Amino acid sequence: MAASGEPCRPGRGEAAAVVVVGSCMTDLVSLAHRLPKTGETIHGHKFFIGFGGKGANQCVQAARLGAKTSLVCKCFLLLNIKKLTAQEGHVGVKGSDWSDPEALLSIQVEGMAQVGKDSFGNNYIENLKQNDISTEFAYQTKDAATGTASIIVNNEGQNIIVIVAGANLLLNTEDLRGAVSVISRARVMLCQLEISPATSLGALAMARSSGVKTLFNPAPAIADLDPQFYTLSDVFCCNESEAEILTGLTVGSPADAGKAALMLMGRGCQVVIVTLGAGGCVMLSQTEPTPKHIPTETVKAVDTTGAGDSFVGALAFYLAYYPHLSLEEMLKRSNFIAAVSVQAAGTQSSYPYRKDLPIHLF
Ligand code: ADP
Repeated sequence: MAASGEPCRPGRGEAAAVVVVGSCMTDLVSLAHRLPKTGETIHGHKFFIGFGGKGANQCVQAARLGAKTSLVCKCFLLLNIKKLTAQEGHVGVKGSDWSDPEALLSIQVEGMAQVGKDSFGNNYIENLKQNDISTEFAYQTKDAATGTASIIVNNEGQNIIVIVAGANLLLNTEDLRGAVSVISRARVMLCQLEISPATSLGALAMARSSGVKTLFNPAPAIADLDPQFYTLSDVFCCNESEAEILTGLTVGSPADAGKAALMLMGRGCQVVIVTLGAGGCVMLSQTEPTPKHIPTETVKAVDTTGAGDSFVGALAFYLAYYPHLSLEEMLKRSNFIAAVSVQAAGTQSSYPYRKDLPIHLF
């Protein structure tokens, strides 16, 4: 056992300390001066593809801090890319008569079928590997496309987003059983709600039955959340708007967040944390049942997308590797790391690496 404040380092060959059961989504981001109206087409000025999804984001942040991690997720499997290229050639060469509406329609249908065969899943697995995340249980399927988030952002930083969860919703309890060796040996199991709630609940139950600490991030929030989510959460961490949906209370201040946290803890969690953006967070636990506000650094925020995932990923790291730190100290450090993430653009691209952070955080 490590002494207080000392890291609890993994041994050689040890299983992943932080296991995330959750989503991976490809972000398709267009920047435009304004958001289009219904039925309108407008020009944007920049497009980029990013790696997102709450599960993967949180896993990436924990891994960049030095955690040994594994992501249990599902995305599309693109096999035989050569064959696809040949089909594309076939369309280009043989679908010759562009004035024939029927031929054109068949080309479009074939084209759409090919679009369904996305390479996002294969690319995502590569991204996880580059972040030193174990992909042993990153399942790939041919039955649904990789999850995507189509995002349009205007000059004011406002956005509209459509998420198509796709293959994420096919991650099921059978997959969890396949991953039981890694889930049951973790120090912390972390999940969210971008996969099927039944799968998240199964993951929490599996971790709990093996004595693994459970960290649950109920995002995106569901108003009538199954009560077992609370009783199976050692640490329940949500943001202001999620706290509002879950409790029906208005959460606009640390005092409000404290009231919401009390209500959530009354449903059976051991620890509740409500994040408050630039306001830091509020914590509450069965052992310290008075809400405590933990403010954060004042920084110039460039892009706050994914700040919550950076915070939760950092918290998972501290719970796994510094279990003897006080909860307050873990949250101060998680606040700090999330505050670093808001000072750079993008989601995963803004998450700091251990080598770039002050030594006092480790
Ligand atoms: P979400 O991204 O889920 O909406 P929050 O906005 O509550 O979550 O942010 C999560 C955490 O990120 C906060 O608790 C805080 O630590 C950090 N954070 C977010 N926005 C800022 C900001 N403008 N300045 C400093 N830290 C921030």
